[in-house]
Amino acid sequence: MKKNSIFKGLTEDEIAYYYTLLNEEITNFNCGTLCAPKNGGEPFCCKVENAVPFLYKEEFSYLKKQSDLWSVWEPKTKHEIKLKKNSETEDTIFCKCKGVSFCERDNRSISCRTFPLEPYIDKRDVFVGLVFMKEFTEGCPLTNRPKEIRQEFIDSHFIFWEKLILRKTDEFETYKKSSKSYRMSREKTGKKFVIFYPSHLKDKSYILKYV
Ligand code: SF4
Ligand code: SF4
Repeated sequence: MKKNSIFKGLTEDEIAYYYTLLNEEITNFNCGTLCAPKNGGEPFCCKVENAVPFLYKEEFSYLKKQSDLWSVWEPKTKHEIKLKKNSETEDTIFCKCKGVSFCERDNRSISCRTFPLEPYIDKRDVFVGLVFMKEFTEGCPLTNRPKEIRQEFIDSHFIFWEKLILRKTDEFETYKKSSKSYRMSREKTGKKFVIFYPSHLKDKSYILKYV
């Protein structure tokens, strides 16, 4: 008999809870000072031309109740229309905020809070840490400064991702694929990538043979 998925969609309460796990600062300084000078004075990741925030639909409806910071992103170019068509899913939507000068810390999206890191799934299909998203190695200078990433940020974000990928198997599959592609590229080029482990896995050397 076919097993039905138990996933019923995220709820607004869950989103509010996730936000409490995603409050840590990524660095001990404002990392926007690294990229803003080359981006017309604004952080690279806050410009919709560089990274369109991807929100869960429940997240968008939750945020709309908190403020008027967010609206639906309207694609303009052919490339953007294709991006929207190919990327949005039943439960996600591209949005844009009103801009850096209107940013509200408490109403930043999950996309804003987690940038530029994503989950890394090892060869056993176990979630073991976070890695820089390869799409942003050019634009985000933090990707060249891994030592600046705070351990407190890694630890709380790990908890968030662990909860999320347990809830959403499609996301787990997405990160399984991206992690595999990072390994393949490492094999091909010999170029290693940094994995940020949460504190409780940092001294577990047995993991190394699986990453
Ligand atoms: S995360 Fe990267 S792109 Fe965003 S503000 Fe910090 S350095 Fe700039
Ligand atoms: S909400 Fe704030 S952090 Fe997020 S993209 Fe807008 S300006 Fe940047």
